[in-house]
Amino acid sequence: MDSPWSETVEHVARRLQTNIETGLSASEVQQRLKQCGWNWLREAPPRSVWKMFLGQLIDWMIGLLVAAAAVSLLLGDWHDSVLILAIVLANALIGFLQERRAEQAVAALKKLAQPTARVWRDGKLSELPAKQLVPGDIIELIAGALVPADGRLIMVADLQIDEALLTGESMSVDKQIELLAAATPLPDRTSMVFAGTTMMRGHGKAIVTATGMRTEMGKIATLLEGTTMVQTPLQLRLAAFSKQLAILVVAISGIVFVVGILRGNATWESMFLVAVSLAVAAIPEGLPAVITVALALGSLRMAQRKAIVRQLAAVETLGSINVICSDKTGTLTQNRMSVSDIIPHREGDFIRAELLRASVLCNNAQPVAAGQPIGSATESAMLIAATAADLDPTEVRQQWPREVEFPFHSDRKRMSTVHRSPEGKRIICAKGAAEAILGRSTHLAEGDGTVVELQPSDKLRLEQQLKSLTARGRRLLAVATKYLNEETLPQSADDAESKLAFLGWIGLVDPARPEARAAIERCRTAGIRAVMITGDHRRTALAIAEDIGLWQLGDEVMSGEEIDRLDDAELERCATRTVIYARVSPVHKLRIVRAHQACGSVVAMTGDGVNDAPALKQADIGVAMGITGADVSKEASRMILADDNFATIVAAVEEGRVVYDNIRKFIVYLLTGNLCEILVILSAILLGLPLPLLPVHLLWINLVTDGLPALALAFEPAEPGTMQRPPRWRNESIFAGGLARGIVLVATIMAAVCLAIFWWALPSGMTSQIVDHEAKQPAPIALPQTMVFVTLSFAQFFHVLALRSSSRSFFSQAPWTNWRLAVSFVLGAGLQLAIVYVPRLASWFHCEPLPAEWLAVAIAVSTAGFWVVEAGKWVNSVSLKTGP
Ligand code: ATP
Repeated sequence: MDSPWSETVEHVARRLQTNIETGLSASEVQQRLKQCGWNWLREAPPRSVWKMFLGQLIDWMIGLLVAAAAVSLLLGDWHDSVLILAIVLANALIGFLQERRAEQAVAALKKLAQPTARVWRDGKLSELPAKQLVPGDIIELIAGALVPADGRLIMVADLQIDEALLTGESMSVDKQIELLAAATPLPDRTSMVFAGTTMMRGHGKAIVTATGMRTEMGKIATLLEGTTMVQTPLQLRLAAFSKQLAILVVAISGIVFVVGILRGNATWESMFLVAVSLAVAAIPEGLPAVITVALALGSLRMAQRKAIVRQLAAVETLGSINVICSDKTGTLTQNRMSVSDIIPHREGDFIRAELLRASVLCNNAQPVAAGQPIGSATESAMLIAATAADLDPTEVRQQWPREVEFPFHSDRKRMSTVHRSPEGKRIICAKGAAEAILGRSTHLAEGDGTVVELQPSDKLRLEQQLKSLTARGRRLLAVATKYLNEETLPQSADDAESKLAFLGWIGLVDPARPEARAAIERCRTAGIRAVMITGDHRRTALAIAEDIGLWQLGDEVMSGEEIDRLDDAELERCATRTVIYARVSPVHKLRIVRAHQACGSVVAMTGDGVNDAPALKQADIGVAMGITGADVSKEASRMILADDNFATIVAAVEEGRVVYDNIRKFIVYLLTGNLCEILVILSAILLGLPLPLLPVHLLWINLVTDGLPALALAFEPAEPGTMQRPPRWRNESIFAGGLARGIVLVATIMAAVCLAIFWWALPSGMTSQIVDHEAKQPAPIALPQTMVFVTLSFAQFFHVLALRSSSRSFFSQAPWTNWRLAVSFVLGAGLQLAIVYVPRLASWFHCEPLPAEWLAVAIAVSTAGFWVVEAGKWVNSVSLKTGP
């Protein structure tokens, strides 16, 4: 609709045929949805399947292989060239499938974190996916959320919106409801809200005027990018590593080529093919892709455990987390508040009634006919308690209409509202944290509109009440009032919240999450420190921390005030001992994260409010709450908890560790195989032996023996000790812990075995011989080459079995715990035997059927690498048991 900011609210409502109080009806919504479509910005269509597949083929390695196939063809060996091209295509297919899987995983993750909106429909307020909004809908706007559609404001309470995304203006804009001139430029349309901007503070209500591509954001948005995949630090490091390795392999291949020709091992054409195939087989070009798959699979497993990762890099970082700073309310506790104590400052029905009324008036939760009120858990609980005491919130609010609100803020820890009483008088209701209200109270309310001065002895008595309630783990809110005589409204929150008359306390219980204790114990064994951060009172926090086993003798508790008194260096020193930060506001959170990071910790920090965004960004893993979290906090974080549960963070850390372990496993696997191939070819050339492996053999090993099991390793479940060891160090190399040594050792042994078997199988007297591809008769060399081919393939298959666990023996693991690996073993071994024994395939792969006893020898010796790895695990376990 045109310039709704220049029309009155009533006019806009009439034009959009909606009711400001009750919203649209369900049938009307259906009709409008048909007319206007969903409320979303169109996305660029995802990359087509063809493009993705072709992308796999545009690669210099593939170019080399195609050149090699061409050389083969020129040599008249069309079998080889067809085979090479087939392998190229198969390789591209596997790469394509891996990439598609990763993209689908990322897209699935994106879907999990869709925004919602609070909408009035048929007189009821409910929370719906934002895409279901239509023009005419009446929406509630709360701090921290993204504005879901363009709208004309009906009501505002201190509403401030960050519109930088739309206007580039970095200062938040104060909103109001008065009409403006039609020509008002976009940044000055203060009576409007715009889709995609963020509510920084306060709250409001608006009529939706435009949705989807018709919003201001939709007008300027060129099509949004589809799913994007940002490379993780590990991927970047490994991509760089792969490149270096590629250069090395190309250099070695060059040496093989030159030495091979000089020594007369083969014709130059054949040597060229060998060199190219060696390069292709030995360069771990698939590594970054396999890592993406492993990370994506990990993130899907995390999603199943209710931790939604917004960036794949987070999966990696999670494995090295050693401090988890967690909000108390809702994460360690259930956020199921219920009022346990209503304590007027002095017994008496009068004061009690006024206390309850104030808790309903100074309250933004909305009653719902049947069920939980909509709003914050604290306020909803108060509404329920008042209802239980026979107070009808809707009626009370009608009798005492609200004129002004000074909203609640985690920094202020209090809120107040101004009302007009049925007699026409003005009254202020305030509620908030004990100190925040008690510190501003100068009187005690007597409940009949009169007040008496607050004496030091009263204060002492109130503080005593406060102490005993908080020690029982209660969240305590103080409620106060002020009777105004003057006709003028208070101008500021400070003005309203001064010289209050104290009414009493409302104590709330929020039970600890049943799984919190076990999760904290798991953190302890896993070398992770759980730290509680709360806006609540120190004693409330301590009581709950003790209850869930987070606080132990010797641990320290620090308050926001104390943090303020310390400089960064002092805070850093305290960070190692403090497990509870109480009465903190979001500004403290940033300092807390930094202090822990300065101690060398990798920190996960939870947050749910708008003001938590800086701390969430600063943390190594910012964790937002999926249920109660503000959209802004979700945007700023790298992980979202679908269930707001602390235990879920711990589960995600475990998954992160598993993913990292599995990545290490397949790096070992791939690099050992590649190094072994290089060693076999290079040594044979240097020793003046014939070629032990043909190009097609190398390519086959690259495709089947390397590809299948490596991918299956990504599905390896957690090892039993995953959460019993300390986290990995932040900058630890992926090769840490003797990985590189292991790779070289096993590769050398496997290569030595292959060479020995080749030597053994060679007809006596044969040293240097040119490979005769054209020979119609099986060349005498074919049998020894087949032996090496089979031995090397099986050596890899057995090696992967040993790599399943880095600590437990292969024989103590059930094969079905990773059935994919078992299948890839059987499939790989079956295909390998088919190549050797099915005549047509054998001739394509220049293989000779091995006599049964030769096959037995090949398989027997191919287990050498397996036994070496198993022996290494055994030695480690024995030395661990006997100690250093
Ligand atoms: P946690 O930090 O443990 O997750 P929280 O985020 O709910 O808890 P805050 O919202 O900062 O903590 O609340 C801090 C204090 O402010 C509470 O202890 C309570 O005394 C007071 N408080 C909370 N909600 C309200 C409210 N709606 N109105 C007034 N005071 C409130």
